[in-house]
Amino acid sequence: MNIKHDILIVGAGLAGLRAAVECVGQADVAVVSKVFPTRSHSGAAQGGITASLGNEEEDQWEWHLFDTVKGSDYLGDQDAIEIMVRDASRVIYELEHMGVPFSRTPEGKIAQRNFGGHTRDFGKKPVKRACYAADRTGRVVLDTLYDQCLRHQIKFYPENYLLSLVFDEKRCAGVATYDLTTGELHFIQAKAVLLATGGCGRLYKTTSNGFASTGDGMSLAFRSGIPLQDMEFVQFHPTGLYPLGILASEAARGEGGVLRNRLGERFMERYAPTVKDLAARDVVSRAILTEIRERRGIGAKDYVHLDLTHLGEEKIEKRLWEIASFVRIYLGIDPVYDPIPVQPTCHYIMGGIPTDLDGRVLINENGSIAPGLYAAGECACVSVHGANRLGCNSLLDLLVFGRRSGLTMKRDILQYEAPILSNGSTRSVDSKIRGLLNHQGREKCDSVRKEMQTVMMEYGSVFRNEEGLKKGLEGIRSLKERYKDIGVSDKKKAFNYELMEAIELGHQLDLSEAILASALHRRESRGAHWREDFPQRADRYYLKHSLVFPTPRGPEVRYKPVKITRFQPEARVY
Ligand SMILES: Cc1cc2nc3c(=O)[nH]c(=O)nc-3n(C[C@H](O)[C@H](O)[C@H](O)COP(=O)(O)OP(=O)(O)OC[C@H]3O[C@@H](n4cnc5c(N)ncnc54)[C@H](O)[C@@H]3O)c2cc1C
Repeated sequence: MNIKHDILIVGAGLAGLRAAVECVGQADVAVVSKVFPTRSHSGAAQGGITASLGNEEEDQWEWHLFDTVKGSDYLGDQDAIEIMVRDASRVIYELEHMGVPFSRTPEGKIAQRNFGGHTRDFGKKPVKRACYAADRTGRVVLDTLYDQCLRHQIKFYPENYLLSLVFDEKRCAGVATYDLTTGELHFIQAKAVLLATGGCGRLYKTTSNGFASTGDGMSLAFRSGIPLQDMEFVQFHPTGLYPLGILASEAARGEGGVLRNRLGERFMERYAPTVKDLAARDVVSRAILTEIRERRGIGAKDYVHLDLTHLGEEKIEKRLWEIASFVRIYLGIDPVYDPIPVQPTCHYIMGGIPTDLDGRVLINENGSIAPGLYAAGECACVSVHGANRLGCNSLLDLLVFGRRSGLTMKRDILQYEAPILSNGSTRSVDSKIRGLLNHQGREKCDSVRKEMQTVMMEYGSVFRNEEGLKKGLEGIRSLKERYKDIGVSDKKKAFNYELMEAIELGHQLDLSEAILASALHRRESRGAHWREDFPQRADRYYLKHSLVFPTPRGPEVRYKPVKITRFQPEARVY
């Protein structure tokens, strides 16, 4: 079926929905999503969203700016970060007016709590900056934005899988999707296409990310010749429930929870004497794994304890209800009385599709744009998180830059004619799908995916070194060879999830290679990228963003400068 819209948004998480709401009334806008919109991963965000409202204690956007720059290990672009933190209070009040039921202080103000790396007075002591709705913040914001979209009758194509971006000679002209409910292919023409397809945590064996976080948008951009920025920076959240990887939000430590090893020691006192359990995520993840490596894990296993038992039942039930219920359901223990087994879990990708400050996709280190193509949210890299994201800054990023992309698209389309999709591009998508379905391959998706996740966990996670990264690259390349012989045994048209997973796996393998290649190139340790063979940050050589380009010989890494406006790099003190 051939469909036309002015603006097409792929992804119904917070970034996509916020952009859609911005375009209402001024353009014909539609949203495509492979899952039902409210099942997007944004709905799983527990902890909160940052803004220096100062409702609980004094706070200023300059302090938020400083923390975000410092947290990013000076790799975040300071012009982009300033835009984000200055816009934060407006974002929160806008959400409040749309109907988001934030938790309240006794006086009725929006309540705020501590999170790792949020400080007052340029790092002097912790500050309460995270606005929250119990531990279901993402859920309530996503539902509220979805309500707004329904109210404005935005057209949704749920359970439609983006297969390909389509370009004419001049620009992005639309997309091809596979309708999971019927098995039909759709070609959707649009003057502007926004990728808001989320992260790729599913590349790793242990992850907090939902099944849909397979990085399709990033990979499709990459395959279209667009580079990916800062892909070596993959965040591991310190407290995934052992052994599943499901998240126990940092809110648990923000509310006073502490980490303990086999000896009952509060070991973060040794690694980060000032902020202790609320040190940045990369610091806490490395500390936990060091404890485990040095045999201070619990019961000689790969986990430590997150102890909430001193918080009392009332606080746990009121502020950490969802985490407590996950622990009861998935681990069969009660966090009111029992410490929780946790291990680092892959959580967030700082890198992604490079964009300018208004969501336009950039195609090289000189800042040239890909006309008609935009990106926002976790799949994009603007870059506000640099080498390491602070907790609760992602939801803010989604809403600030989702809105800005919406504003830009509705302005930009005024100068664009409606594009026409060529028959050639539609035929090639069609034959690719038929090729996958008809191929009698011997390889199974499930086993190739499991091996990929093990390779990424072993060589591309918290601790990295040259030898391991090279082994990892070899491993992924041999899996890419095996992928050529993937067989899809389910031949039916509608709801063919096996076919969808086979396509997703292709994306995941490409992204794994891009991550490992970028990580191999960066011979220093910065933020979430820790090289055991180069344990120092090397500003002289690497205070720059990586860009990995697709070439016929495989990924090629180049660099571009970081934008520094106010804060010059300082040594990291924990
Ligand atoms: C468990 C968890 C807790 C978190 N807690 C917090 C928190 O408290 N605070 C915070 O700031 N951040 C938090 N984060 C991070 C934050 O939630 C994510 O970075 C964010 O939700 C990503 O939003 P998004 O809009 O970019 O994409 P997502 O919400 O991931 O949505 C992606 C969308 O793209 C669609 N899509 C993807 N591929 C395709 C395709 N091929 N075809 C069609 N559609 C496609 C999906 O259907 C989906 O609608 C958390 C993350 C996790 C995993």
